[in-house]
Parts: sequence; structure tokens; C-alpha cells
Amino acid sequence: MIPYGRQDITQADIDAVIDVLGSDFLTQGPKVPAFEASLAEKVGVHHAVAVNSATSALHIACLALGLGPGDHLWTSPVTFVASANCGLYCGASVDFVDIDPVTYNLCPKALEIKLIDAEREGCLPKVIVAVHLSGQPCDMAAIQELAQRFGIKIIEDASHAIGGRYRGDYIGKCQYSDITVFSFHPVKIITTAEGGVAVTNDDHLAQRMNLFRSHGVTRDPALMTHESDGPWYYQQVELGFNYRMTELQAALGLSQLERLDSYVARRHSLARRYDQLLADLPLTCPWQHPDSYSGLHLYIVRLHLAEISRSHREVFEALREAGIGVNLHYIPVHTQPYYAAMGFESDDFPNAMAYYREAISLPMFQTMTEQQQDEVVEVLKRVLTA
Ligand SMILES: *Cc1c(COP(=O)(O)O)cnc(C)c1O
Repeated sequence: MIPYGRQDITQADIDAVIDVLGSDFLTQGPKVPAFEASLAEKVGVHHAVAVNSATSALHIACLALGLGPGDHLWTSPVTFVASANCGLYCGASVDFVDIDPVTYNLCPKALEIKLIDAEREGCLPKVIVAVHLSGQPCDMAAIQELAQRFGIKIIEDASHAIGGRYRGDYIGKCQYSDITVFSFHPVKIITTAEGGVAVTNDDHLAQRMNLFRSHGVTRDPALMTHESDGPWYYQQVELGFNYRMTELQAALGLSQLERLDSYVARRHSLARRYDQLLADLPLTCPWQHPDSYSGLHLYIVRLHLAEISRSHREVFEALREAGIGVNLHYIPVHTQPYYAAMGFESDDFPNAMAYYREAISLPMFQTMTEQQQDEVVEVLKRVLTA
């Protein structure tokens, strides 16, 4: 099976992890801060807070922004469930904004309309999670303008987008958002096995996320309610979690980070090749924003079902049977039973549903060979023209 995504682990990665195993610290040592500093410098942001997953990063980002019961978080229905669940973890309610039919990202026009209604009804969201689907940045300038107009905080869920750029700058620089989150799950662009990071330019938010990552406990006298009892002393000043990243993960991340640009460049050359090889088939290739450079975590095509004699499901199954590990990103979150039970109806977000009926993620990973890609294209041609 040619997978839709997979990690690349080099000897340098293995050596970096083995070094940590022989060192004094498996957790809470020097590698995590080194990884944070290196990543922050790479994307051009002041602070990075590394954690055990992007899901945890989204949670502490929401907490740091003060999201809580009675508040609302909005995101795109076409995302992984974690982009929405972080709001529920904080006791807030979650709602969605339909996608743009071309970019598949949260649509700024739909957002504006929904914000105007929400303002009238007195239920504006506190936080918007803008998800850069497949690595293609959202229209952040438009989203930021709306966020400023309505007084809303922005988290970028850039789980797919590390190494990508928006208007020339790396995603994660946070000029258009309060916090950006990256994932290092093995299917993503670089990996730490499990892992994630939240980055921000705001000192206070960074300090809050640091607290929430580790039990809400601090050894910083400036954060304590009274003078320290002695050198052993720490205080719990918030209800936090154990969301820490290990030294092993950080060492792997540091090693992987060195190859980030070459990984994304490789993904772009594979994408250009797909664009050419698939040009005559009854499907839509991913749209690329002229102002941006996608991280290209995913290569998503949309089938022109009216021109194909098979159904979406039949095409998907035939590809899997032929050893092509296609996937579908994502089942719209509002249709998940947990969300449907809150009252969402499938047709609440028609563009998301139209997308879901036609989308297929083709294999895309940095170590994919041109022969593997040719095989994917050949099978796809056979399946679509059968
Ligand atoms: C993978 C992913 C997450 C969660 O990442 P983890 O590191 O697995 O917790 C969140 N949002 C999106 C869009 C993702 O793709």
C-alpha cells in the first residue's frame, strides 16, 4: 500500500534520540527549550511552547485566551475534530463557518455574515480557529480585519502548514493571529512521534500557556501570590495539565526541523507533477493561492462525479483495493454524532457537505518516489475512466 502520508526518519534523527537516552534528562531537560527556540527562530515568532500534541496546544491556547463557559468558539467544519473539541474542553460552545468552495478553508464572507448576525443577537465568538487545510493558508488578512472589527481572538490551526508561507512570511509568525498551533504527528510534515507547539508574540499568552502545560505550577516568584517559602517552593496558581513534551521528542523535532524547507520543497515538486499528470482527468486539482506557499501536507482532489460512471465511494474503494492508500480529510465535524447531538444538521454547511461528497486525499509525503506517484496516477486514470 502506498500510504497517503508517512514520516521520514534518518540516521541523524535516530542518533539524536539515542543521545538523549544516554543523557541525564528524559524530560524537563535542555532539548525542549532548544527545540522551542529553534522553531521560534525559524518561523520568526517570539515564543514557542512545546507540548505532547497539537490537541493539547489548541487546549492551552484557548485557556490562555480566557475561553470558558458561556463563550463561543467558531471554526471550519472541514477539519480534524480537535480544532473544535478544544472549545468544548474549556466549557465553551462551538459553532462552524462554512468553507469557501475553491480554497476549502473557512470563508471570510460567510464569517462576516455570521458575525453580523451574532453581534445583533449578542453572541459573538471569543475565539476563531482558522484551519489551514492541506497547508494552504486561510485568507488571514480578511479574517484578522473581521476579528479586529468584532473584538475576537484568532488561533491558527497550522497542523498542516509548517514550512508554508503567507504573503512571504512563514506561517507561525503570528502577524494575523494571537496564537498559531503546529502538529508533529507522524503523518504531518515534520514529526516528534506525538507532539505539538503553540507559538505567539504575546509575552502574557506565552506565560499562561507555559503554566497550563505543566499543572498550573510555577517557580517564578513574579507569578506567586506571596513571597517564596524557600528554595524548594513552587505554587499552583492555575488548574493546568501535564501536557509536556519529552526530551526524546524534542531531540527528534530539532533534527527534523533542519529538513523542513527541503521537505516542503519536495512536496511542491510532487504537487506540480500531480497537477500536470492529472490535468485531463475529471477532477479538480488543489487551488494554490498566488500570495501563499502551501505546506502541502495534503494533496486533495475533487471528483467531477457527473463525468464519472462510478460513485465517490466506488472510486475510493477501487483505489484502496489497488494499493493506493487514499484518505478523506475530513468528515465534516458538525456531522459527527457528538456534534449532531448538539443540534447541528448536515445541511447547515452546504459547501462543506458538497466538498465531502467529492474529496479524496491522494498520497503525498516527502519520500514518495516518482514511480510511486506514477502508479497512483495510473490507477486513478484506470478507475476514473472504467
Ligand atoms: C492532526 C491535526 C490536529 C491534532 O494534532 P495532534 O498532534 O494529533 O493532536 C489538529 N488539527 C488539525 C487540522 C490536524 O490535522
